[in-house]
This record gives sequence, structure tokens and C-alpha cells, in this order.
Amino acid sequence: MRGYGMIKTGQPGWLEKEKPTPGPLDAIIRPIALAPCSSDTHTMHGGSGPKENLILGHEAIGEVVETGDLVCKFKPGDKVVVPCVTPDWTGRYIQEGRYTAHDNHMMGSFKFLIAKDGTFAEFFHVNMADANLAHLPPGIAIESALMTVDMMSTGFHAVELAEVGYGETVVVIGIGPVGLMAVAGTQLKGAGRIIVVGTRPNCVKIAKEYGATDVVSYKDGDIVQQVKDLTGGSVDKVIIAGGNANTLAQAISMVKTTGIVSSVNYYDAADTFTIPAPVWGLGMANIDIRGGFCPGGAVRIEKLLNIIKYGRLDPSKLITHRFDGFEKIEDAFLLMDKKPADLIKPAIFIKW
Ligand code: NDP
Ligand code: ZN
Repeated sequence: MRGYGMIKTGQPGWLEKEKPTPGPLDAIIRPIALAPCSSDTHTMHGGSGPKENLILGHEAIGEVVETGDLVCKFKPGDKVVVPCVTPDWTGRYIQEGRYTAHDNHMMGSFKFLIAKDGTFAEFFHVNMADANLAHLPPGIAIESALMTVDMMSTGFHAVELAEVGYGETVVVIGIGPVGLMAVAGTQLKGAGRIIVVGTRPNCVKIAKEYGATDVVSYKDGDIVQQVKDLTGGSVDKVIIAGGNANTLAQAISMVKTTGIVSSVNYYDAADTFTIPAPVWGLGMANIDIRGGFCPGGAVRIEKLLNIIKYGRLDPSKLITHRFDGFEKIEDAFLLMDKKPADLIKPAIFIKW
């Protein structure tokens, strides 16, 4: 079968691979909608270390073509929403009650890109299909469902980590697609003031539509000072969905002494975080610093789909560029890599 990915680090291209086969609990899926992600391009450039001969992609809606003998809930022909994170539900951390993206080890639940080929292929493999796949509900547009599998799940996870509450003042640093979903999730959780950091005009526009009350540009000077000028002090929560290694210290500098900084940003393997002791109360501030990778599984995705079904959020606003046909994966991926200013999220729709 064919797939698109990295021939080696820094070199994207088409690959020929064996069609995957399902284990007893697994399914093989044909993609019908795909979206490239910043994490795919980051991986291609070696952000998580050198890799080769790897099919990229981890955001997909698909059709089941084959199932293992023990799969009960799905059969060939079913349309499914595929979470980008597909845990092994027997994992040790999950059994210890830590429902995160790490089933046995760091990032253990992120199978695509890390443990196996991704979704930019004629066929791809999903482990533990009954626990990890959700049926595509009737009446929900494929493009909206596609935005649940990573963007909404990750953006909302940042909000969960930040424990956003009614009336709070929250800063969301970064308003790419992940940050925009964090803004929408913060709004759904009932925050009062939502200050966003970003510059691209269409992202700013959508951030306001999703609930942002104030906009700060990191290109207009120190964002910590700008947030202080706006609020006259510190804020309850800071969510990081963009920026660089320096952004963490900025977030800690803005949040109140008992606040929470939550980061879903993907830093570079070469990054080091420097936190000046005074901003962390000489080590005595009760600031929680939380990082996280989006949780996976069917139930989470079903709940996110429910938010769309009952009209509480339209995540399809994130899709700015649409492509038709399997061959267009390349154009969509290279566009994501180039990231022109008007791009938020590209999506590819495939008819077989
Ligand atoms: P984008 O690149 O689309 O958006 C990044 C945002 O950060 C933009 O709004 C950009 O502003 C802003 N930004 C850039 N530089 C700075 C700076 N110096 N200070 C403050 N803000 C800045 O990213 P995505 O939304 O696609 O993804 C966000 C992050 O989340 C990525 O690192 C991605 O890899 C990661 N990710 C993590 C996942 C997880 O589970 N933890 C899953 C999926 C993605 P501007 O408007 O000027 O462009
Ligand atoms: Zn992603």
C-alpha cells in the first residue's frame, strides 16, 4: 500500500509499505478524511528525534475494512472517528487510575508516529478497536468530527489540566487550532475573562468568536507586562498552546501564586526551561505546572461529538483549506509545514 510520511528526518515523501493486519482486538481502517497537524511537521523535522521510513498522520475519520476476531462493536463498512491517542487499556498507568496518554510509559498511548505508521495511508491499524473507536454519529459533519480527534481533545485537555472555573481570568498563549479549541473549552467551562496571545488575523477573529475577550500580541513586547497592564495583577490560570521554551517562565510570571499553568505545547528535544527563582516565589509559590498529552479512547470522543451534536461548538471553523483525494495528502502536508498566515487547519477528503 502507499502512504505519505518521512523518508527520513527532514525529507517528506511517498512510501510503499505492507498493508497492516489486525490482531484479535484491532481494526484496519481506510481513511475518508484526514488532517495534518503541527505535530506531524514537527516530527518530520526531527523534533522528537531522528526517524525514517515512517508514515505520518494521526487525525482521521475512516471506514472499517477489517476487524480482529474479538472485535464486537464494529464491522467492515462502519464509519468511525479515530482518536489520535489510542491507549492500550490494560496499561499499568491506566490501571493505577491515571487516565492519561501514557498507558505504560511516557507517550505510550500515542501509537501513530511513535510506535507504528500513521493515518496518511491507504490503510492504517487501530489497536483495541472496541475501546478506541467511536461510530460517526448521523447528522454530524465529517469535518466537525475530524476536529475532535486531536484539536478539540487536546485543546480541551489543556482546559481540564487548568481546572478552569466560573468567572476566572484565563490566559491562552497560542491561538493556532489547539489554542483556539482551548479558548472554546475555556468559554464552555464558564470563565469570565479570556485573554489570548497570538497575531494571525484569522486566528484572532475566530478566537473572539470562540470567546476571547482580549488579545495580546507577542510581537508588541513583553506579554507578561501586557497581561499585567490589562488585569492590574495576575490571572487565575494560564494555558500554553504555542510559543517556545521561554513561554513557560512567562506563564508562571502571569499566574497568581496559587494558580495553575497548563501546557500542551510540543517543545523541542533540544529545549531547556529556565525559570528565574523570583517568578516562582523563590520556590515557595503554590503554582501548579502541568503538562499533558491529549487523552484518547472512544468515550472521550463520544462526549466531544455530543458537544457538537447539541450545537454548543462548531469546531469546523478551524478548517481553512480543503483538499479532495488521497494524492492531495502531500499538498496538504506541505502547506501545513509552510504554514502561510491564513492557514489554521487543512483537511483532506477522500472518496475510494
Ligand atoms: P500553531 O503553530 O498553529 O499555533 C501556535 C500559536 O502560538 C500561534 O497562535 C502563534 O502566534 C503563537 N506563538 C508563536 N510564537 C509565540 C511566542 N513567542 N509567544 C507566544 N505565542 C506564540 O500550533 P497548533 O495550534 O497546531 O499546536 C500548538 C502546539 O500544540 C504545538 O506545539 C503542537 O505540536 C502541540 N500539540 C500538542 C498535543 C498534545 O496532546 N499535547 C497534540 C497536538 C498538538 P501567531 O498567531 O503569530 O502565529
Ligand atoms: Zn496532532
